[in-house]
Amino acid sequence: MTGNDVGHTGMDTDVVIAAVGPTGLMLACELRLAGVDVVVVERLAERTGESRAGGMHSRTLEVLDQRGILDRFLAAGELQPVGHFSGLRLDFDESESRHPYPLMILQSAIERLLEEWADELGVRVRWSSEVSDISQDGAGVTVGLRTERSAPATLRARYLVGCDGGRSAVRKLAGIGFPGTPATMTAMIGDVELPDLSEEYIWWRRRPTGDYSAIAFEPGWHRLITFEYDRVADRGAPVTSEQLRESLIRLAGTDYGMRNPRGVSRFSDAARQADRYREGRVLLAGDAAHIHFPAGGQGLNMGVQDAVNLGWKLASVVRGRAPESLLDSYHAERHPVAECVLHNTRAQSALARPGPQADALRDVFTSLIVFDDVNAYLRGMLTALDIRYPSDGDHPVAGRRVPDADLKTSDGISHVYALLHTGRPVLLDLCGSAEVASVAEDWSDRVDFVEARSEDDHWYVPAAGEVPAPAALLVRPDGHVAWAATGGTPATAALRTALTTWFGPPTQG
Ligand SMILES: Cc1cc2nc3c(=O)[nH]c(=O)nc-3n(C[C@H](O)[C@H](O)[C@H](O)COP(=O)(O)OP(=O)(O)OC[C@H]3O[C@@H](n4cnc5c(N)ncnc54)[C@H](O)[C@@H]3O)c2cc1C
Repeated sequence: MTGNDVGHTGMDTDVVIAAVGPTGLMLACELRLAGVDVVVVERLAERTGESRAGGMHSRTLEVLDQRGILDRFLAAGELQPVGHFSGLRLDFDESESRHPYPLMILQSAIERLLEEWADELGVRVRWSSEVSDISQDGAGVTVGLRTERSAPATLRARYLVGCDGGRSAVRKLAGIGFPGTPATMTAMIGDVELPDLSEEYIWWRRRPTGDYSAIAFEPGWHRLITFEYDRVADRGAPVTSEQLRESLIRLAGTDYGMRNPRGVSRFSDAARQADRYREGRVLLAGDAAHIHFPAGGQGLNMGVQDAVNLGWKLASVVRGRAPESLLDSYHAERHPVAECVLHNTRAQSALARPGPQADALRDVFTSLIVFDDVNAYLRGMLTALDIRYPSDGDHPVAGRRVPDADLKTSDGISHVYALLHTGRPVLLDLCGSAEVASVAEDWSDRVDFVEARSEDDHWYVPAAGEVPAPAALLVRPDGHVAWAATGGTPATAALRTALTTWFGPPTQG
């Protein structure tokens, strides 16, 4: 048994996570990094190798960089300088990030790499274990599992996190509502060979009832996506590759000789969000907490970022270093983020609809998106670089994700993200303040104190632009700034408050 001594408490583990999608794996890794014992349960017997997502945005790449594992993902994907908003070009290479590009990488590769990292960190995965029942009391959660064996199994844990996708059993069993808007269209996706297609790819070809794209992703193979706005499929109806062919013929008038379809699935513009991300000892993250039209490729990114927001908070609570109320900040911070994503994907869905009104709207939007400010605004939204949580401190970087600024420390650390690999919070003093150093001593068991010099006099902060580098800042394990002070002698009363709020009361003094 690793982490806490769960064996003496009647618990099988600290946290049960359902399941091994990108959100569940990322959360499991974050918890293990913080020394928490985790069991991940997954209803499948093994991976299918299928992929829905095909890309990751700047903020997710930064998050992986913060943990020192980004190179693995860069090696398995391909950088792309542009992105899109409902098919209209966004210039991602203008983003103020060390990683100003979407990384084209299949979801199956993302999951494989996260699983490798989870394995290195000692995450235990139980395949063929479907969550079928949950009950909670003051001390923990009992999770009923349907397994391959005839007798059902149970696991007892302090907390359960449902990362079990859009149809989440955990969400339903916890009685959490999932309000939103129903599907108004049908989309289908599949990887296919199209021998009769002469172009390398087709991008959002618009037709009277919808549109379609066929994007080459490896020699001989296209990822085919069809969108039809004049029909809504029954959610429970089976999905077949014949339906994908018929959809392509309705839109394109040909199937381009389509053959060998694989990974065919259906999706829609249904947009729903859990009305609360926590019910006692049960929490939700990723698609279990929010579903939406996948325009702009934001769902997986948001799930990974949910996990990174929740991981260190849940670890602090499990390890007795923070009150349970810290978990409420997870809902407070992440629910509005998904609300915005649902909003922008509804807008993208409206822009994509066929018909003269949407065509006119699209024309107007096409002429607006070339303006730098419009492009930057939409780019910030899609990349999640523009997120700001409520925070303390008088510097504009407070609440934002810390930029990966160049630094100089006495032990040779050259940039901010290298300080976050361990997943511990960092109090970064950039002005050599004796007061900040003195405060740091009181939290030295939980918060790393680093004295450094910023190599840049100015940092870029979304909405504020180029601003003088802060004098000192408190960076949470998820890379968001909990407190930051402008030049001069930082006011340490606010720093003490921020340290207590996020990391519990001081150990000394
Ligand atoms: C066509 C399409 C393209 C997309 N492209 C992108 C993109 O480019 N970028 C992006 O960011 N997002 C994209 N998305 C969204 C992305 O695929 C999802 O947001 C992402 O998969 C969510 O990850 P998750 O881990 O939360 O859930 P999932 O990936 O759905 O994983 C849930 C897991 O839970 C398991 N499970 C379900 N029920 C149970 C149970 N009762 N017990 C145990 N296990 C259970 C499932 O088997 C599965 O392994 C796309 C989606 C679609 C449909």
